[in-house]
Amino acid sequence: MRVGVVGGGQLGRMLALAAHPLGIVCTTLDPNPSSPAAQVAPALTGAYDDLDALAALAETADVATYEFENVPVEAARFLATRTRVHPAPEALEVAQDRLTEKTLFTEVGLPVPAFAAVHDLTSLNEAIETLGLPAVLKTRRLGYDGKGQFVLRDRLRADDAWRAVGEQPSILEAFVSFDRELSIVGARDEAGATAFYPLVENVHREGILRVSRAPAPGGGAELQAEAEHHAQGVMDRLGYVGVLAIELFETNDGLSGNEMAPRVHNSGHWTIEGAATSQFEQHLRAVTGMPLGDPSTRGHSAMVNLIGALPSPADVVTVPGAHLHLYGKQPRPGRKVGHVTIVADDEQELEARLQRIVEVVPEA
Ligand code: AMP
Repeated sequence: MRVGVVGGGQLGRMLALAAHPLGIVCTTLDPNPSSPAAQVAPALTGAYDDLDALAALAETADVATYEFENVPVEAARFLATRTRVHPAPEALEVAQDRLTEKTLFTEVGLPVPAFAAVHDLTSLNEAIETLGLPAVLKTRRLGYDGKGQFVLRDRLRADDAWRAVGEQPSILEAFVSFDRELSIVGARDEAGATAFYPLVENVHREGILRVSRAPAPGGGAELQAEAEHHAQGVMDRLGYVGVLAIELFETNDGLSGNEMAPRVHNSGHWTIEGAATSQFEQHLRAVTGMPLGDPSTRGHSAMVNLIGALPSPADVVTVPGAHLHLYGKQPRPGRKVGHVTIVADDEQELEARLQRIVEVVPEA
């Protein structure tokens, strides 16, 4: 089996690494010739909208997939004329626009914060009237890691907010005073079978994921069932094949949907050592038509992102149950350059080990 991956970042790299033992060759396409994935697997260099490069990728592949959600939908559609593509371009299209994404969540019964579409300053002011403040103005497209967002607390700052998001089609969302952020990562195969990992608790700072804990402490079977039900609804509606992640807020009133990623997800990295089947293997199984693997956990896991700077590898691997994953990227402020997974038999031991990792990770 041969899998073509659009994008050669760390997710493409970890897909390629998981592919090796399965006898699957992953070829990635990325504009950067020394992308994280190109360092470990065959890679093509080219722009994501370069039809010749996409055709060359399709030539290498029995099935094509993506490792980031901002792949141009036209590129995915073009690939689909040359080879099988999972997940379908339509899933990508829905996930690229916060308005269609939130609309889909609502349709499958996943509650979302109250929201309104904004296309100019007048509609922003109307949305403020309807939703009240505080609220978050977010660009509909191309936002990630908290970029393209403005938290609006004062209606006199509507102008500033509109300028801050680049005066482009946006949505205004009621500000959610959530208890915590969670995510559900799951997979669906071509026959419609699904497998879900336990809910993950995610801690963000400056819009970037810092630490995940899996299973989410105190999650419970009921919350898990609720999250799986919603994720299943989204996947079934899209005829989804592959790994999907949905980011959620946990509030007093239950779960609220924030956004989804039609790909393997940062909050699923712990599965490499913390689950019987990693999210990367699971995605490869799903898109190549193999049966899904066992998603059950191997104890309690945490994941710490390495952002902007690298720790001393020896300091990390000396902690029991800790595993270092570097992405082959030059450190720059705010850039994800690796992660550490920590696995332990119980939550108490996990917290003790996590504390030791946090102490050796710069700015963790
Ligand atoms: P997003 O790019 O939508 O994932 O937003 C980045 C981060 O901003 C989230 O992980 C939350 O911490 C925060 N955030 C996003 N939307 C809201 C909201 N409606 N209310 C409160 N915080 C939010």
